[in-house]
Amino acid sequence: MSAAAAGNAPDVCVVGGGLLGAAAAYFAARSGLRVVLLEEQELAAGASGAAFGGVSSMVFSYSETRVPDHYVQLSLASVRLFSELADELGPPLDYKVLGQIDPFFDETDRPFREERARGLREAGSPVELLSSEELHEIEPALTGDIAGGMWCATDGHVTPICAVWALADGARRHGAELRVGVRAEGLVVDGERVVGVRTSQGVVHAGCVIACGGAGTAALAQGVGLRIPLDLSRGQMVVTERIPRLLRTSLHNMQQTAAGTVVIGVTREPRADDVQSTPTGIREIVATAARLIPALGGVRVLRAWAGVRIVPAGGYPVFGRVDGVEGLLVCVMHRGITLGPIVGQILAELAAEGRTSWDLGPYSPARLADLPETVSVEESFYASH
Ligand SMILES: Cc1cc2nc3c(=O)[nH]c(=O)nc-3n(C[C@H](O)[C@H](O)[C@H](O)COP(=O)(O)OP(=O)(O)OC[C@H]3O[C@@H](n4cnc5c(N)ncnc54)[C@H](O)[C@@H]3O)c2cc1C
Repeated sequence: MSAAAAGNAPDVCVVGGGLLGAAAAYFAARSGLRVVLLEEQELAAGASGAAFGGVSSMVFSYSETRVPDHYVQLSLASVRLFSELADELGPPLDYKVLGQIDPFFDETDRPFREERARGLREAGSPVELLSSEELHEIEPALTGDIAGGMWCATDGHVTPICAVWALADGARRHGAELRVGVRAEGLVVDGERVVGVRTSQGVVHAGCVIACGGAGTAALAQGVGLRIPLDLSRGQMVVTERIPRLLRTSLHNMQQTAAGTVVIGVTREPRADDVQSTPTGIREIVATAARLIPALGGVRVLRAWAGVRIVPAGGYPVFGRVDGVEGLLVCVMHRGITLGPIVGQILAELAAEGRTSWDLGPYSPARLADLPETVSVEESFYASH
């Protein structure tokens, strides 16, 4: 894919100011490309603004014992890239390596967890299966009721909104233009090539369009005949009042901030596509948290919010080139906080050089061709977040 754009047109037009769009803009601008990013609302207005922020190579599902090695390796590469970004972008990224615990209560779960931990280790993730006593040494606030749990010392947490802002600011420092309040309304196509984006404020011509607009990407892709069937589900989150230091790790979608508040998630409400918090959802989150960390039982909820997970058919990410169409890269995924840096870097490579050393076959938009229009993604793919 050539980065050469005509005249003063940018090399790259990124659609979407979530974590994926900000990461793609950052890496593209850092590599010397001229970048324009379009965001119809505000930076982090979509799923990225609602997410918990787990950054994890301890990727698993509740229904499959083993997720594919390439997916673990993509996650692992992104976890590593977060540490590099923390050096480059500094404290505004708000990234911490805390380690992550995934506990289980029932001894009968052990064989399944052992197999899952072995699979993850074989794929390169440094996951260990620990006893209840070993986990208490790491996280003393945990209930004594757990039978054991998986532990990944290299997993981390990022405050997703801060990460979007830090990447967007970094992109701007490398010369990118961020146009907030500008909606991409369609692709401009010339023969078999996308040459720009029709926006609410005129046409933006570009050598390459990178569509990172979540559900907005699916709408844009229809303009070149690509269907991206999506499953939408609501996830609710809460943050508590400030309490004295209680948690050391990232634990089952819980993390205590430097200010002392505890961010806790998350509900999984299949096929719910609005962003309302509900009393039932809040109660469920608090009850699950208190079962694991009894000291959270009496702690008050300060605020609640919700977001919509946008999961492509099949559950795994969809990103890369579209067969038969030049000048367009698409990108839609769940777990986009973890995967944002590596996918943003790969998209920038494709925009600059037309190739990457990663095998993107498993994530190719072409695999969507034969799927039905509406999909329901297995519960398994919400498992981590
Ligand atoms: C409650 C919850 C918790 C989660 N927790 C985690 C977690 O802990 N770890 C993890 O890895 N993932 C998590 N996720 C998933 C993660 O949030 C998403 O995978 C990720 O944010 C997707 O980023 P994105 O940039 O692709 O999309 P988004 O963040 O949705 O960004 C898309 C942006 O594009 C803009 N846009 C859309 N259409 C257009 C258009 N036509 N023109 C211009 N702009 C447009 C939107 O306004 C939006 O800002 C969670 C999700 C939810 C809902």
